[in-house]
Amino acid sequence: METFMKKVIKMENGCWEWQGNLNKQGYGSFYFEKKSIGAHRASWLIFKGEIPEKLFVCHTCDNPKCVNPEHLFLGNAKMNSDDMRKKNRSFFQKLKEEAHRFATKRGCYKPHPLEVYFEENDIAISKAAKRMKISMSHLHRILRKTHYPSLKLAYKIERYTKGKVSLKEVIQPDEGVL
Ligand SMILES: [Zn+2]
Repeated sequence: METFMKKVIKMENGCWEWQGNLNKQGYGSFYFEKKSIGAHRASWLIFKGEIPEKLFVCHTCDNPKCVNPEHLFLGNAKMNSDDMRKKNRSFFQKLKEEAHRFATKRGCYKPHPLEVYFEENDIAISKAAKRMKISMSHLHRILRKTHYPSLKLAYKIERYTKGKVSLKEVIQPDEGVL
């Protein structure tokens, strides 16, 4: 537990950001008895207890680096399929579910659609920011979903990604209402 907390920085927003190694998806890795496990999973084991088989440790804060036990919850695949059965879903609900399914596959990390686009096309954030004539920090805030782009910028993003990331997706990817 002490070695665990040594690698944590408590952020102003309440997240405990992992300072150790990160994996490809941005999750922290914690080494315990020569084995590596997800730092957020380790946090659950330390502060909360067992992780039942087939359950994921998910983030309420969308920050894969975060290991604050209060920002974690256990999620499962069944919850997703229950969602899928709901009828009359709006466009955003469908989008949300899609994001959620994607997240489950990746172990609950819910990346911003633009981040997925960058990842798939091997585009550096700095380069994209320059092209769209916005600052890096502005783009970072958008990717972290702490800031939603203006309509004008959303159009730019749509153009920049050649329509792969649509206007609707970036205005409010999670809880947006048309
Ligand atoms: Zn957090």
